[in-house]
Amino acid sequence: MSKMTVPFASFRPMHDELRQQLDQAYHKVADNSHFILGKECKAFEEEFAAYCDAKYCVGVANGLDALFLILKAMDIGEGDEVIVPSNTFIATALAVSYTGATPVFVEPELKSYNMDPARLEAAITDQTKAVIAVHLQGRPADMDRILQIAGKYGLKVMEDAAQAHGVRYKGKRVGTFGDAACFSFYPGKNLGALGDGGAVVTNNRELADKVRAIGNYGSNQKYSHIYKGVNSRLDELQAAFLRVKLTQLDKWNEARTAIAKKYFAGIQNEKIVLPLKPDADFGHIYHVFAIRCRERDALEQYLADLGVGTVKHYPVPMHLQDCYADLGYKRGDFPIAEEISDTIISLPMFYGMTQAQVQYVIDVINQF
Ligand SMILES: *Cc1c(COP(=O)(O)O)cnc(C)c1O
Repeated sequence: MSKMTVPFASFRPMHDELRQQLDQAYHKVADNSHFILGKECKAFEEEFAAYCDAKYCVGVANGLDALFLILKAMDIGEGDEVIVPSNTFIATALAVSYTGATPVFVEPELKSYNMDPARLEAAITDQTKAVIAVHLQGRPADMDRILQIAGKYGLKVMEDAAQAHGVRYKGKRVGTFGDAACFSFYPGKNLGALGDGGAVVTNNRELADKVRAIGNYGSNQKYSHIYKGVNSRLDELQAAFLRVKLTQLDKWNEARTAIAKKYFAGIQNEKIVLPLKPDADFGHIYHVFAIRCRERDALEQYLADLGVGTVKHYPVPMHLQDCYADLGYKRGDFPIAEEISDTIISLPMFYGMTQAQVQYVIDVINQF
């Protein structure tokens, strides 16, 4: 087996195929000279809402802002608690903190890596206002069970779908199971802009209007400011690029699924724990294909030495992040999140990855 280089990810195959359309998108916006909240943004919002089978989509500056704006529009703030998974990307928790509310962590299931609904109820207090279900790695959270418990306590439910564009839960794409959903178009996401971008998706007209106003200086019409808002809008240029890329999203997700299938079939090493396979209820779009290994750091070095790029999603759980030292948690408080953080590592996964590259990753892992 001769050494190969397999990057963790590459945008080139996607963008090379779309070069002409992306160039045209740039020229369209440049010629039009309407750089903020123009036609492209509006058209992308309509197209992405339709893709998610949702009534409304509001383009915003990034995924973190999408979460923050939903929470603000729900009037969540100081003195409130919002439940988030103990293993997620930091943005889920930071959005809560930015409103002045407190994130309260709930452990994931060790198998699915998503919030364990069986542990949700114990985290609810009189201060709890909402639950943020994260569809981590591109696998949907167990929305029915989360919604049932949240409903019992009158809590709002948000989906953090930043890693989950297009994945299906019980046959329906994520984004409208809760009161509102956040999407990120950070370049590395399954649908990525050529820069930052994000969106709020919802079926609630009032919430969509409020998110839109808060993200546009709190303004519902020019120079009338009904909220102390912020500036968080989806750039016209990014919207134009995203319109081009959205047409390919399903194809790209399928390509990722095909790579995942090869990993499932090929990786056979008792030191390696593979992710849970998708089924009729829980789809997967493999934002990442993460495996677990007790000797994770040795595996990481071994793969790097053999030319295989990996990333850890994520090496430090929320309660052990320095920025949350004020919450007073210590190691041992969320053992499942800690176990995942200590053992997880994501394998190369990108549209355009060759058969030979996939096979090389499999062979190298099997020889570890
Ligand atoms: C990427 C991500 C975000 C934040 O999105 P940005 O566009 O980077 O701000 C939020 N939540 C999760 C789970 C993410 O993966």
